[in-house]
Amino acid sequence: MNKQEQTIKNNGQLVDMFSRTISYLRLSLTDRCNLRCVYCMPVDDKGGLQLLPHKDLLSYEELLRIVNLVVDMGMNKLRLTGGEPLVRKGVMDFITALSRIDGLDEIRLTTNGVLLHEKAEGLYRSGIRKLNISLDTLRPDRFKEITGADLFQQVWQGIETASDLGFDIKLNVVAMKGVNDDEFLDFAKLAVEKPYQVRFIEFMPVGKKSSWDKSSYITSDELKDLVGSMGTLDPLPGCRMDGPARVYLLTTPGGSTGKIGFISPISHHFCDTCNRLRLTSAGKLRACLLHDREADLKTLLRSGGTDDEIRGLIRQTILDKPKGHTLAEDQASCGGQMSRIGG
Ligand code: SAM
Ligand code: SF4
Repeated sequence: MNKQEQTIKNNGQLVDMFSRTISYLRLSLTDRCNLRCVYCMPVDDKGGLQLLPHKDLLSYEELLRIVNLVVDMGMNKLRLTGGEPLVRKGVMDFITALSRIDGLDEIRLTTNGVLLHEKAEGLYRSGIRKLNISLDTLRPDRFKEITGADLFQQVWQGIETASDLGFDIKLNVVAMKGVNDDEFLDFAKLAVEKPYQVRFIEFMPVGKKSSWDKSSYITSDELKDLVGSMGTLDPLPGCRMDGPARVYLLTTPGGSTGKIGFISPISHHFCDTCNRLRLTSAGKLRACLLHDREADLKTLLRSGGTDDEIRGLIRQTILDKPKGHTLAEDQASCGGQMSRIGG
C-alpha cells in the first residue's frame, strides 16, 4: 500500500497519518464581507483592503466539482464560511445545488447575520438547519465600533427571524479583553433566556496585521470561571464531537438553563480530534487554520487537472496535515488572512 492509499480506510473514510478521520470541509466562499471587524479584515499600509480579484475566486462550477469529489472520497459535512458567504452573488442557488449532492449529510453556515433577515427563509428551504452567527456585542454603539457598520438591529432581527423559522442557532463571541469583556455575563444570560448556544472563542493571532496582542487575549478557563459565577456549569456529554467547542449546561440558582460553549484554539487546542480540511477563497487547500502550508488546488483545476489528479492532491494535503499547531499564548500571529481562509 502506498502512502496515499493509507488515507483511505476500508470503510471508505479518509484518515490522516495521526488516525484522525477527515470528514469535514470548510469552504470559504469569498474573502469579501459587508462588515469590517477590527480583528479580521486586514488593511494594507494605505488603509485599503487586500481583496482577491473576482477571477481568483473559484467559480460555483469549480466548487461543486470539488465538493462532489470530497464527498465521493468519504467526507460528509460541509461548512460555508468566508468572508461573508451570504454576500456572494448566486449563493442561494449554489446551496440548493449542494443540497442535492448524495452523501453530503449536512451543510452548515457561518454568517455575520447582516443578510439573514432576507435570506433565512431561503436557507431553511434549501435544507440548512444549523447556523453559527457571529456577534461580539449586544450594544449597538459597540457593534459599530467593532464591525464598522451601524447594523446591530438588523443582525438582531435576522437572528430572531432565523430562530422563529426553527434554525438551531449558535452565537460566536470572540472574547477580547478591553473590548467586550464587560458583556460576557450578558451573553451567558442570553443563553439562558433564548434558545441560542453562546460560544466564546479565544481571540486568535491570525493575519500579519492582526490586532491581537497578549493583553487582549483571555483564556477559556478564565471565561469559564467568570460564567461559572452565575450558577453551575456541567459538561454536556457528547458535545465534544460537535466541533471544537467544549459545551456546558449553565444552571442558574433559579433553575433556568442555557448552553455555553468554549472554543480554545490556543489554550486547549483540539488538534488531536481535528477532522477538518479547508478550502480557501483563493482556491488553496489548507489542512490547518493555524499552519500556513497550502496546496494549490485552483491551479490544478484550471490547468485541466483530472479527477484522479485532484483526488491525489486532496489525499496528499490530508497526509501532510500537521499533528497540531504550535501557536502559544505568547506567540506572534500566523501569516494567513482570516477572511480568506474562512474562520
Ligand atoms: N463572516 C462570517 C462571520 O463573521 O461569521 C464568517 C467568516 S468569519 C472569518 C468566521 C468566524 O471567525 C467568526 O465567528 C469570527 O468571529 C471568527 N474570527 C475572525 N477572526 C478571528 C480571530 N482573530 N480570532 C478568533 N475568531 C476570529
Ligand atoms: Fe466579515 Fe466575518 Fe471577518 Fe467580521 S469576522 S469582517 S463579519 S468575515
